[in-house]
Amino acid sequence: MTTRVSVVEDILSANDKLAASNRARLDAAGVFAINLMASPGAGKTSLITRTVEALKDEFRIGAVDGDIATTLDADRIAAVGIPTVQINTGGECHLDAVMFQSALPSLPLDDLDLLIIENVGNLICPASFKLGVHASVLIASVPEGDDKPYKYPVMYRGVDAVVLNKMDVLAAFDFDVDYFRQGVEVLNPGLAFFPLSCKTGEGLDAWLAWLRNEVRKYVSGDSGAHS
Ligand code: MG
Ligand code: ZN
Repeated sequence: MTTRVSVVEDILSANDKLAASNRARLDAAGVFAINLMASPGAGKTSLITRTVEALKDEFRIGAVDGDIATTLDADRIAAVGIPTVQINTGGECHLDAVMFQSALPSLPLDDLDLLIIENVGNLICPASFKLGVHASVLIASVPEGDDKPYKYPVMYRGVDAVVLNKMDVLAAFDFDVDYFRQGVEVLNPGLAFFPLSCKTGEGLDAWLAWLRNEVRKYVSGDSGAHS
């Protein structure tokens, strides 16, 4: 048992070192990177396409899409007209720093301001594997239920913002936004919180304003959130 635990610790510490080197590479090129995490179906790809459509005239944006087997999401993102690299994890349920490193040479880093990473849909291990990004964002969605911060505390503790997607269907679900938010607040006080709908566009402006501000702070050298 003891041996097994220390192996896991070694893997994570090797991952952390590689994440730091990924981060240095991004910083050398002046690219602000965000890691989007969520359970499957919460709307990661939809938030990315919405965000790119809104900000692509302001920033040079690229994407990395992690998926267990298909290129469906990467194809949707590439269709919005930005450089997109697909990482097929071959069944792994998260991205790690090695996979992210392997994607970097395929991206025009010197010509990007913002890199958006779509992690594999999973609320557990993506929280343990740093990639070397500047901010991490968790996307929850109304149909998943309002108890998720209570059930997946590690994920909620490690992020810089929470998006609550699919607000357009709130009336059809037994979802208490205040209860959800209290759960988030206990784990991560003062966390930026954006209830929105990628379908209707409601609430997207506040999310876009936050992201725009983070990228601008970074580009101007006054670095913001770190994770
Ligand atoms: Mg997706
Ligand atoms: Zn995993």
